[in-house]
Amino acid sequence: MTENRELFAEESERDAFHDECGVFGVYGHPEAANLVYLGLYALQHRGQESAGIVSSNGKAFIEHRGMGLVADIFNADVIGRLEGTSAIGHNRYSTQGSTSLKNCQPVVVEYAHGGLALAHNGNLVNFHELREQLERSGSIFQSSSDSEIILHLIATSKAPTMADRVADALSQVRGAYSLVMLTERELMAVRDPFGFRPLVLGNLNGSPIVASETCALDLVRAEYVREIEPGELLVINEDGIRSLRPFPIAPAKRCIFEYVYFARPDSLLYGRNVYQVRKMQGKALARECPADADIVVPVPDSGNAAALGYAEESGLPFEMALVRSHYIGRTFIEPRQAIRHFGVKIKFNPVVELLVGKRVVLIEDSLVRGTTLSKVIPMLKQAGAREVHVRIAAPPHTHSCFYGIDTPTREELVASHQSVEEIRQSIYADSLGYLSWEGLYSFVDGKREGFCDACFTGNYPVAIPQAPANSQLHLFEANDDRSAAAPR
Ligand code: SF4
Repeated sequence: MTENRELFAEESERDAFHDECGVFGVYGHPEAANLVYLGLYALQHRGQESAGIVSSNGKAFIEHRGMGLVADIFNADVIGRLEGTSAIGHNRYSTQGSTSLKNCQPVVVEYAHGGLALAHNGNLVNFHELREQLERSGSIFQSSSDSEIILHLIATSKAPTMADRVADALSQVRGAYSLVMLTERELMAVRDPFGFRPLVLGNLNGSPIVASETCALDLVRAEYVREIEPGELLVINEDGIRSLRPFPIAPAKRCIFEYVYFARPDSLLYGRNVYQVRKMQGKALARECPADADIVVPVPDSGNAAALGYAEESGLPFEMALVRSHYIGRTFIEPRQAIRHFGVKIKFNPVVELLVGKRVVLIEDSLVRGTTLSKVIPMLKQAGAREVHVRIAAPPHTHSCFYGIDTPTREELVASHQSVEEIRQSIYADSLGYLSWEGLYSFVDGKREGFCDACFTGNYPVAIPQAPANSQLHLFEANDDRSAAAPR
């Protein structure tokens, strides 16, 4: 090894929650695979490690998967080979060091009733229990993926129809799943009874489309029909769309953090535009935590809409005084001579001309470990900012997510063990303020029903296994290939 060091997973990348996949499906369109490819492009923010498409020509599946970004994996020849009028696709996010082609989705199996392809966004919390049961009854697993569990449960179900087998299988799993499935002749989409992860239905000239977010419908010019409801199973075939409710009714628990951070601002999520919700939260933040300052600056990009709201409400000018590079990879070579804040500078650079002598309100969507801000704030001050007042557009993050989001361990979540004042000192801010519950839910007049906010409260709607002291990935450490068991 040379003196240069290769740094894996830049610090600021680890100082964040990460989404765990996007799904997309098309039924009955002559360019099904091409549409899925575009849909995955629009959903790239939900997963950048790998992507895959499986199409059906009515008799057999054609599949292609690869590591990396959608643009790198597919080309015109590949898309041309993915023939058929129905197709599904998947984007996967993975934690550091867990890259493997065998973990790419959609997963495809052949069983007694034919072929079945599945793309999963979510995480099953009773993974170990189910796997043990299945292994005891003779199932052999190719991976340690929780998606494979669903396939085994479907394959071993004695129910008469495909929809019944899916319902039977899913009645045994607990946790988060937004699934898109394809047989040779049918497309199915299903959302867990709590509806943790999003899933929507669209229509393109009569061809039904399902997607994690509406931004994917927009790209293919499909019309948004509606949200697929928590606990709803859609069966789409030549007879049309059938909506089934095979699970006991549960109180909906849609992920509130999709609004704060994960979803694209141009998406319509749970019936509301994400950008507008973030802006309202920023306005609430300005009312709750005003600052004696000169300019409002977002930590781009996810802080942008909240910062605009804060600026509008406070009357302070909005300035993009911190610029983010969108073109960094997950590794880079560090120079021989140490450069101050090198890691964070790869991602963010201040605009000196906007900062000199200014008192800055810095808006961030959430504060996870605090390591990024502890570098960004000294960088802003070095660039000339007189004061930096940090405002977080969410309440303090105190718990990990077990429903399909890759989160740091609870110990790593700084708000789980430090006071606001201690955090302020550790990130070198002049003041620090968080959005209240009322502010977070200001877009629904403060009503919290219908949402999961367990990562802020620890009130988990679906009981999680014991010893959640580590991240959800730790749940699956019994398996050799940790990545394969990582939530999707
Ligand atoms: Fe979303 Fe947090 Fe609930 Fe996970 S725990 S589903 S990130 S609100």
